[in-house]
Amino acid sequence: MNSGKTMLKITRCLYCMLLCFLFFFTMPLAEAAKASTETRAAFPAVLMYHDIKTRPLNNFDVTREDFCAQLDWLKQKGYRTLSMEEFIDGMSKQSFPKKSVLITFDDGYEGIYLLAAPELRKRNMHATFFIFPKAIDTALKGYPYVTLKELKELAADPLFSIGSHTMSHPYLTQISPQEKKKEISDSKAYLEKLTGKPVTALAYPYGDYDASVIAELKEAGYKAGFAVNDRGTANEPARYSIPRIYMGMVLGENRQKLFKQYVREYKKMPEEAFAERFGDFF
Ligand SMILES: [Zn+2]
Repeated sequence: MNSGKTMLKITRCLYCMLLCFLFFFTMPLAEAAKASTETRAAFPAVLMYHDIKTRPLNNFDVTREDFCAQLDWLKQKGYRTLSMEEFIDGMSKQSFPKKSVLITFDDGYEGIYLLAAPELRKRNMHATFFIFPKAIDTALKGYPYVTLKELKELAADPLFSIGSHTMSHPYLTQISPQEKKKEISDSKAYLEKLTGKPVTALAYPYGDYDASVIAELKEAGYKAGFAVNDRGTANEPARYSIPRIYMGMVLGENRQKLFKQYVREYKKMPEEAFAERFGDFF
């Protein structure tokens, strides 16, 4: 065999190997991306609020005026707000009421008690508050959190569900396995004792989670894990990587228009649209 033919054979062989490589390594990625869209498509839109303020201070604030307009629009369009129990039940049955949404609030700022809860009650609408116990009865500059008394009052209202946002709001993928376990299970136990009700859902602080965090959630008995986007966990069960729509002043002048568009298009929104956006409003 001359060297020309040998070279041709080697080239063909390398070409085949390249094709095999591309097939085996890119197919699972494509499948995972597809799976991520398909699983989310089963869920109703999940809204993520932080604080409701008379005057916004930060990108994640929503004014009372905007919040009321959003609730009114949902009502007017025939959307039903789900309790956490209904949402989890819907995930298990893979069936939700037509036109429903899940309203969630992270961190437990006092605006949820002073402004959000009264507006939700007026309209008989459900919401879930994700609380991290370390913040209760404290205040960051301009951002007081709920008091213990206020939280108990919210928890006693059948319209509202309380979820965990861990004990101290860490990046869950960056702490030791022991700390991770404590953050996830202690917050559940603490909030269950405080509210006298089961705490079945957790929202990951900063939307930060991985497979080991999800394993801890399952171990602790949580039925759902709420993210900001669903990056990196496309192969994980959808119920532990639920993306949420980031509400806030960050959406800019078109925020009300975007709010409506996002609620309608949640099921087919690209992952980038769920990116968490921090920073000062001013
Ligand atoms: Zn948070």
